[in-house]
Amino acid sequence: MSSKLATKQTTRREVLQMGSGLAGAALLSGALPLAVRASTGGSRQAQQQVPAPISNDRVAQMRAQAASIPVRTQKLRENIYMLSGPGGNMIALTGPEGKVLVDSSFAGAAPKVIEALAAIDAKPLKLLINTHWHFDHTDGNAAMHEAGATIIAHENTLKRLSAPQEIAAFQMHFDAAPAAAWPRRTFSDKFTLYYNGEELDLGYILPAHTDGDIYVRYQNGNVLHAGDVWFNGTYPFIDPSSGGNINGMIAGSAQCLAHVDADSVIVPGHGPSGNKAALTKYHDMLVTVRDRVQKQKAAGKTLPEVVAAKSTADLDAEWGKGNVTGDFFTTLVYSTL
Ligand SMILES: [Zn+2]
Repeated sequence: MSSKLATKQTTRREVLQMGSGLAGAALLSGALPLAVRASTGGSRQAQQQVPAPISNDRVAQMRAQAASIPVRTQKLRENIYMLSGPGGNMIALTGPEGKVLVDSSFAGAAPKVIEALAAIDAKPLKLLINTHWHFDHTDGNAAMHEAGATIIAHENTLKRLSAPQEIAAFQMHFDAAPAAAWPRRTFSDKFTLYYNGEELDLGYILPAHTDGDIYVRYQNGNVLHAGDVWFNGTYPFIDPSSGGNINGMIAGSAQCLAHVDADSVIVPGHGPSGNKAALTKYHDMLVTVRDRVQKQKAAGKTLPEVVAAKSTADLDAEWGKGNVTGDFFTTLVYSTL
């Protein structure tokens, strides 16, 4: 038991060291302004840094920056739209009964999100669904609640939003969200909503990116929101301090694949909307990296040794072009196996 504990502590410190130079960039994926990206260190530099104390300065900075990022609207189906730009990707379903929004971006982006919703049509916002608790997906919850939305999420998302949280890999601290931001309808496994002639199937994904991830499937529109279980085209961030782990990411992306076909539009938490082929390719990449890292870990290699071995070298040109480098992803995989 004591050796298990020691392993866990080492793992946490290693993740901290690796992530400390990244300024939360991966969490935000492409939404981070270039000036901030340029100031974030590479993984080598990050490894040498002593982790700074956990603070919420960075969180405040990101909230402020989000206000200036435009919200783009992309029509996916007759009554289903993807909203993107600041924070995680959102989906709006509209119709005679009002609008249903998935995820709420940053609080600072809320006026622009509300503007984008109004530009679709005049139907009022009625429901908001959260794919998981991370602040780039839920920080706008209170504003959407004030705009009329009842919030629905997995029960673990409520647990995390209603208590202080840390994202250890980025040294971010979050106070409990205000009560207006809390989901008021929660579920543990599945939840079905009938709205505007659409059937929305919400399904729990066992711990993957966090321990509160869900997918949202639009049965008639044949659209699926995969949350942060899918970063389209890049290595994903996995949040070990919220229960995330690589095997869950693999199982979760497979679960999403089981709910789509060749005609489905799939919205990732970050990156452009995509299809089954793109999600399959991403899933296979996760398996490849997991297998390589697992083999070395089983052979007794330490994390620095596995990182130094550059196990993802042949994949980095394609998948490491986002904010999660091959070294950081290797660290996340190793530390959650
Ligand atoms: Zn996330």
